[in-house]
Amino acid sequence: MTKEMKLKITNTFTNQLPADPNLENSRRQVLESVYSFVSPKKTSNPSLIHVSDEMQQKLGISEDDIHSKSFLDFVTGNTVLKGSKPFAMCYAGHQFGNWAGQLGDGRAINLGEIETKNKNWAIQLKGSGPTPYSRSADGLAVLRSSIREYLCSEAMHHLGVPSTRALSLSLTGDEVLRDVMYNGNPAHEKGAIVSRVAASFLRFGNFEIFAARNDIKNLKTLTDYTINTHFSHLGKPSKEVYLKFFQEVTHSTLEMIIHWQRVGFVHGVMNTDNMSILGLTIDYGPYGWLEGFDFGWTPNTTDNQHKRYRYGNQPNIGLWNLYQLANALYPLIEETNPLETILESYKTGFEQKSQNMMRSKLGLFLEEETDINLIQSLEDNLQASETDMTIFFRNLSEFRKEHPEKGIDLMKEAFYVPNEIKGELLSNWNLWFTNYANRLKGETTSYDQRKEQMNKVNPKYVLRNYMAQLAIDKADNGDYSLIEEFYQLLKTPYSEQPNFNHWFAKRPEWARHKVGCSMLSCSS
Ligand code: AMP
Ligand code: MG
Repeated sequence: MTKEMKLKITNTFTNQLPADPNLENSRRQVLESVYSFVSPKKTSNPSLIHVSDEMQQKLGISEDDIHSKSFLDFVTGNTVLKGSKPFAMCYAGHQFGNWAGQLGDGRAINLGEIETKNKNWAIQLKGSGPTPYSRSADGLAVLRSSIREYLCSEAMHHLGVPSTRALSLSLTGDEVLRDVMYNGNPAHEKGAIVSRVAASFLRFGNFEIFAARNDIKNLKTLTDYTINTHFSHLGKPSKEVYLKFFQEVTHSTLEMIIHWQRVGFVHGVMNTDNMSILGLTIDYGPYGWLEGFDFGWTPNTTDNQHKRYRYGNQPNIGLWNLYQLANALYPLIEETNPLETILESYKTGFEQKSQNMMRSKLGLFLEEETDINLIQSLEDNLQASETDMTIFFRNLSEFRKEHPEKGIDLMKEAFYVPNEIKGELLSNWNLWFTNYANRLKGETTSYDQRKEQMNKVNPKYVLRNYMAQLAIDKADNGDYSLIEEFYQLLKTPYSEQPNFNHWFAKRPEWARHKVGCSMLSCSS
């Protein structure tokens, strides 16, 4: 079938922002430009693995289109749609706390924005070949990391966590060489491309690069564009509006991280080049989900030594990253005090919001001063006994305040080492259930109401690390059934879905130390 898809592509980004005049696809420093034009690499034998029906509908793509060659060519970069002028963005970033200079879209190629009735969706192909920003790498992506991004970004959206979305997952038919654990054992893997969508893919690093180069003209051009396009409710750009803009980014970043903490998501690489200006979860690399509740856990083996991006440190890193953005925007504002006030508000906002988030997880609707102690002692217990976060909070909705002594039985399936729950640990747990029962007596909600509300914030299903790995192992053998199963399962992560109850289970022991399950690297 040769019928062309009828997608309306606009180019607000490239029409309004300065382009790199050099059209060569060579690796280099790119100055005074927000992006470089670059074409996606042709793939040898592309095939479609999965399409997000939700994003398909949102973008107005018909069922016929999905099965057309034209769609396949579009999402693998083999054909560029009429009106689309592909490009890669120029950005910098702080990586693991250090200034890293120019980074840019090394393996993401933007195709412009798809115009729909409600909004414009920027679309990117991740893994579509080298760009001027690829540095020493190949611009490609492998199947395992593409499955992880594809499934998780959609799952996050359905959990109510702001995220970039995914439209499709495809194989390129080409092979890609990767050294998964960076231990001198490179191997060929299947190449893949995720087409991903978002209102904008701008990152903190897009602003940092101009500030670092003292290019205030382009810093202003980009910031004005961002405000006019994505924050127009703030008014026309001015010093005051720049501050309001920073305030909003601070707010949405904090909201996003509170959601991560609520569902037990660990991003793994919170570098400033991976921080969306819209407060979306972006760049799914070595991320992971808490199994045992542990503030010190990170899935990223590249961060093993300092664990900078561990679960419990994500809120601090959010603030650290916002300091970098504040520094970048400073030349437009030229006053430190109001920026500092906003950064301070992150700290107080975090305390308040994280307490409220924990209250909601516990089904507490009133605010008591002593809640902070109840939350603290719960976190101590969760840390002390290896406890599955998802199962614990889901089962807690069945707790009866009349029977605190039965609390521990409710959690049987949440403890990884049931035998260790004895002596002091057991009495600490029983004490906590007693305190929780007493606290619930001060609430006015019924058991049923509380259960219903708790089950709206405590998911039953998340993309457990070993689940993603199972989907990958099958897909490597050409069986995509688990990708479809998880895609469907994670569309309604808060509902019971009894047919899928087997995914409401602790991580199996074989996955404890398996590469891909508990250990991930940036090699993708
Ligand atoms: P990440 O840690 O995935 O956010 O990537 C950090 C930087 O490295 C970004 O500029 C990426 O575009 C770039 N990068 C990562 N993987 C590749 C690759 N395979 N080819 C080219 N650039 C890459
Ligand atoms: Mg990145």
